[in-house]
Amino acid sequence: MSKPTVGIFGLTGCAGDQLVILNCEDQLLDLVSLIDIRDFLMASSENNQDCQLDLALVEGAVLSNRDAETLRAIRKRSKLLVALGTCAVWGGVAAMNRGADRDADRDALLEEVYGDIGRGYDSTPAQALHEVVPVDFNITGCPIEKEHFLAAVASLLNGDLPLYPEYPVCTECRMRENNCLLIERGLLCCGPITVGGCDARCPDLRVPCVGCRGPAGDANAGSLVAVMEEMGFSRPQLAARLRTFAPGGVA
Ligand code: SF4
Ligand code: SF4
Repeated sequence: MSKPTVGIFGLTGCAGDQLVILNCEDQLLDLVSLIDIRDFLMASSENNQDCQLDLALVEGAVLSNRDAETLRAIRKRSKLLVALGTCAVWGGVAAMNRGADRDADRDALLEEVYGDIGRGYDSTPAQALHEVVPVDFNITGCPIEKEHFLAAVASLLNGDLPLYPEYPVCTECRMRENNCLLIERGLLCCGPITVGGCDARCPDLRVPCVGCRGPAGDANAGSLVAVMEEMGFSRPQLAARLRTFAPGGVA
């Protein structure tokens, strides 16, 4: 049986998710024995940029017309398209300011940042992948967890779609028996409304969660926001914190 063909791509982002894949050192040999990675610029200078793919994993947000064209071309050549990391899933840090007045005059913004040469740069307000093409599923995280990538490949090889946590970071934090930074120390921790899967990495180190994985589907956002308000945090404060990584998830 032929191996599934795979492409791994980066749009505008920090390449951290692709690095996570390359850091799967103990599993890389098993991986390449099971899948046929045809197009992965970060890992190889020899790529087939035209072949059809069974699976495309795409990191980064869409921040230019060139990004959008690249993404549409990847979508056309792949049966499944996976958004890899918070930028691809939610727009990420680059989308933090989206919708603000500054987007109304992109040229002025570009000039402010790059000077005279900025006007006319190919630069568009940051978009998540699903705003440009249909996405089959998401692996969120800033960066993604290595185990989630490996689980996705294993599930897809079995013909299943992978399952990921829908519960909030708090669930994992309580399972680790941490003292609560929000309730007990009065710190603005986004764990109640951020999707788990990171094993509560930050609160485990006594650092409040900043919401890098995006919103939790299972969170009771209304009542949790009310709790946060009781703790003295305003909605704009909370929204500003959440916008850092997942502006598309902030109501
Ligand atoms: S420290 Fe943060 S993540 Fe942990 S239980 Fe409290 S609010 Fe939730
Ligand atoms: S605890 Fe929050 S900020 Fe830290 S890795 Fe997890 S989701 Fe990201």
